Amino acid sequence: MNKLALPLAISAILSVMAGGAVADDNVNAWRLFVADHDKPTVKVIDALDGDTLNTFTVKGPASLSRSESGATVFAIQGSANTVSVIGSGIAFHDHGDHADIDVDPPKLLSVTFDGKKPGHFVERQGKVAQWFDGESHALFFSEQAVLDGKKDAKSVSVVAAHHGVAVPYDGYGVVSIPNPEDASKRPIGARVVDMAGKKVGNDVACAGLHGSAGSGDTYALACSTGLLLITQKNAAPEIKHLPYSASLPEGSASTLIGGKGMQYFIGNYGPDRLVLIDPTEADSFRLVQLPVRRVHFAVDPVRSKFAYVFTEDGKLHQMDVIKGEITKSVRVTEPYSMDGHWNDPRPRIAVADDKIFVTDPLKSKIHVLDAVAFKESGEISVEGRPFNIVAVGGSGKVHGGEHGHEHHNEEGKAH
Ligand code: ZN
Ligand code: ZN
Repeated sequence: MNKLALPLAISAILSVMAGGAVADDNVNAWRLFVADHDKPTVKVIDALDGDTLNTFTVKGPASLSRSESGATVFAIQGSANTVSVIGSGIAFHDHGDHADIDVDPPKLLSVTFDGKKPGHFVERQGKVAQWFDGESHALFFSEQAVLDGKKDAKSVSVVAAHHGVAVPYDGYGVVSIPNPEDASKRPIGARVVDMAGKKVGNDVACAGLHGSAGSGDTYALACSTGLLLITQKNAAPEIKHLPYSASLPEGSASTLIGGKGMQYFIGNYGPDRLVLIDPTEADSFRLVQLPVRRVHFAVDPVRSKFAYVFTEDGKLHQMDVIKGEITKSVRVTEPYSMDGHWNDPRPRIAVADDKIFVTDPLKSKIHVLDAVAFKESGEISVEGRPFNIVAVGGSGKVHGGEHGHEHHNEEGKAH
């Protein structure tokens, strides 16, 4: 009998006493996290029935990023100089042939990360790098430490305060290199540093660096001459420059998103075009013309070959990433012109389960579309100006009473 057997036996008994299901249940849970454009609030909405589960008050209007695991959602409050973390309440435990799901109430965690002008956030494999535009260091920490209520971030020098980005790796980080003449200009490349801030290997030049995303084993940074592709095998991460192909018109990407379940990147390429990037192809770049200017774009993590683009005419477009073309379009909102300030309230997209959610900040609602039929199927009223949105969730097993869960013992972990 190993030392885990007793607590498991007790929890099995308690579960039976509490009237827990005897058989395994398959549970599907999805939550939306929605930040107001003007107010310091983040609402948590059940994506399956539209119920508001909680409204968290933070310090300033937030931009939202979720972790890969979905256990945490980060509320980056640039104007309030702080980053708050929300425990999504949905956690998965990998059991090899299936995943277990734990569903708890969402909660605002105690740990915050303060600094001047928090900016780009990158998380990979449970490691987080939080950038601050107003600080000459970036913070590196683990998602698990935050969930445990521990604040043990490593502060790593980035030479000078600038609008850049840091990417976390095991034992290392990749950080942007500030423009040596004027740090307020775009970074001029990227370098690998260790957690003491010491440079590892050579700087890799890439002028005009802005925009980053991960897909599969590769993290990409966009710049004016192409992409920097970062991978880590066993030692320090390696950075490779992938130049834009000569067939592309003049331009560059400055915002990237990365495919889930299929390795690709999509970048903006001027206001009304996108570029599809498959780094493994000989000709890695394919241009996609949009009918009008782009407002927001997002990948579908469930139906891997689709990404969605919302355009200023109020339409949502389904893009088939394999074909490299727009396959369906549907009107969702009134027009949202891209004239005006870049940060005016405009729709944002999130995908959860078999639905696509589009915020409509000027109408105080979220449109719900069926992802397969690609048609609006409902809407959720949200007071104020619902703006940034991320979704967390999935399905898993909740094991019932007496059968317990024997392979927890084999894996040596109980939950
Ligand atoms: Zn299990
Ligand atoms: Zn930026």
